[in-house]
Amino acid sequence: MITGQEYVDRIDGLQNKIWIEGEQVTGKLSEHPAFRGILKRKAALYDLQHNTSYQDLLTRQSSETNERIGFSFEQPTSKKMLKKRRLATQCLARMSAGTMGRSPDYLNTAIMTLGTSHTFFEEPFQWNILSIYEQAKKQDLSFTHTFINPQVNRSTHYVEYSDDNIIAAKVIDETDKGIVIHGARLLATQGGLTDQILVFPAGGNFVEPAFIYGFAIPSNTPGLKFICRESYAKHASNTFDHPLSTHFDEMDSIVVFDHVLVPWDRVFLYQNSRLAGQMYQETQLNIMLLFQAISRQAVKAEYLLGIGDLLAQTIQITDYQHIQEKISELIMTHEIMKSLLISAETNATKNKFGTMVPDPKPLSVACSYFQKTYARLVEILHLLGASGYISLPTEKDFDSAIGKDLDQYLQAAGANARDRVQLYRFAWDLTMSAFGSRQTQYERFFFGDPVRLSCSLYHAYDRKACIEQVKAFLKDDK
Ligand SMILES: Cc1cc2nc3c(=O)[nH]c(=O)nc-3n(C[C@H](O)[C@H](O)[C@H](O)COP(=O)(O)OP(=O)(O)OC[C@H]3O[C@@H](n4cnc5c(N)ncnc54)[C@H](O)[C@@H]3O)c2cc1C
Repeated sequence: MITGQEYVDRIDGLQNKIWIEGEQVTGKLSEHPAFRGILKRKAALYDLQHNTSYQDLLTRQSSETNERIGFSFEQPTSKKMLKKRRLATQCLARMSAGTMGRSPDYLNTAIMTLGTSHTFFEEPFQWNILSIYEQAKKQDLSFTHTFINPQVNRSTHYVEYSDDNIIAAKVIDETDKGIVIHGARLLATQGGLTDQILVFPAGGNFVEPAFIYGFAIPSNTPGLKFICRESYAKHASNTFDHPLSTHFDEMDSIVVFDHVLVPWDRVFLYQNSRLAGQMYQETQLNIMLLFQAISRQAVKAEYLLGIGDLLAQTIQITDYQHIQEKISELIMTHEIMKSLLISAETNATKNKFGTMVPDPKPLSVACSYFQKTYARLVEILHLLGASGYISLPTEKDFDSAIGKDLDQYLQAAGANARDRVQLYRFAWDLTMSAFGSRQTQYERFFFGDPVRLSCSLYHAYDRKACIEQVKAFLKDDK
């Protein structure tokens, strides 16, 4: 169980190959304007593990080593443990108003799920995923991940066959040391900011053996390169002006593998299309990840309600019926997300690997529902605040000679000018700034394409009893 400083030192020490805005990062990542905010806030989450007020919730004493380990590495084997897991995830999510999608517990959950269901994988690869899990647990490692290919041609008949013009990362060689990967993968949130990268088989191409692989390697493996998008944090050094961008820009990156040698002992899936196709379903990786994600989203829904209501009170618009209706939409989402989560937890069952797995039905519903609803919640905040989001001075303005004007003209019925602007800036940064726009796109897509996820729900959901009931009703009516 590491401290925040240990996490930062470890990431700085890796000297991962990270490119941003045409330059390779050369100094310490923790001092770079694009990354220092998020690293500091992630470090604060690691520090919480050592805070006696949180330790019981966020860690447990390992029965094997007698040392404390982070909660997300622990296999939940009872409903009580699932509940603790939810509360711990939500405790971390509250620290970022639900905006840090990849707090370390997200991918630790993936490693835990795969490690504890290692017998799903073939010999000898199953021992590799087990040791990757054991190492991660022992060293409190952090991960980024990639599970999609570059967006070149998404038509159903497209398969990339060429060896001369490689785009999607594939195996180009096999040696006694391991497999050699060349090409690119999308889209690693926090790519380069973690100890290791977890690479899953990319959906849709389990035909060509060269594309069927799963492994975890250190982020500084030779030949590995992370190409970042533009930073939303680099100009955001003032927390009053950019309360979220300053701290929580997680960064997203294209991952480039330039003849990367992946040692055999880091490979857990190889050239087995059946296992690649069944991995998510059989190990229940998707469900365990969803449980983490929905727990975080329920916290975000809580924040959206709090912000919307406070904003309405601040400018005294709460008596209007359409405002009440809009806030009741925020209430509904908050309650629906909470209820679906509790329902999944209450109806959890143990799987064949001994993991207590939440009921997938309410979690899949919550996932598809939030993917669609989140943009509406954002719209509600926009409608409540109107031009208030545009007339937003900076802290510097307040501290200047025109500060008195701002105090006078930006005051609101329920708050002084500074407090009102601070609240509006929070809502703006969550929904309208570059950081906020990415949040909307993240909630739509981070778990996969909303269209195909809804289709999966359609196919997986057992509707037989509902249909039979209708048939019986009609029969009785004859
Ligand atoms: C902010 C953000 C962070 C992310 N972080 C990560 C990460 O850390 N790791 C990671 O691996 N991925 C990450 N992703 C990527 C995410 O997994 C994908 O966005 C998602 O799987 C959809 O794939 P795509 O973006 O390539 O869209 P595409 O598959 O290219 O879809 C584009 C459009 O075409 C439609 N379409 C395409 N194919 C089909 C089809 N077969 N049937 C019907 N419609 C189709 C889609 O509905 C969509 O409208 C992230 C995405 C975002 C936005």
